[in-house]
Amino acid sequence: MNDEPTRPTLCWICRHAVPKTRSGHNDGDYIQGCDWSIWRCKVPGWTAIACTIPMGRNRDMPSYTVIECPKFERG
Ligand code: SF4
Repeated sequence: MNDEPTRPTLCWICRHAVPKTRSGHNDGDYIQGCDWSIWRCKVPGWTAIACTIPMGRNRDMPSYTVIECPKFERG
């Protein structure tokens, strides 16, 4: 199967790609992040293409290439 991403995901340039909490500890009080970066769930209203990321040794990780996202913030 060849469904590797053919374009960069919007997440690469989005500040929410790396979740952060107010305290810096994993206490769930997020000040940065999104359903995708925190929970690996679809962000409501996004436009994304299902793909797989090759992980080596015949392992692929299901993922998405995000095209449009209502929560996107450059950063
Ligand atoms: S808010 Fe949208 S664009 Fe940003 S990391 Fe999450 S899914 Fe990607």
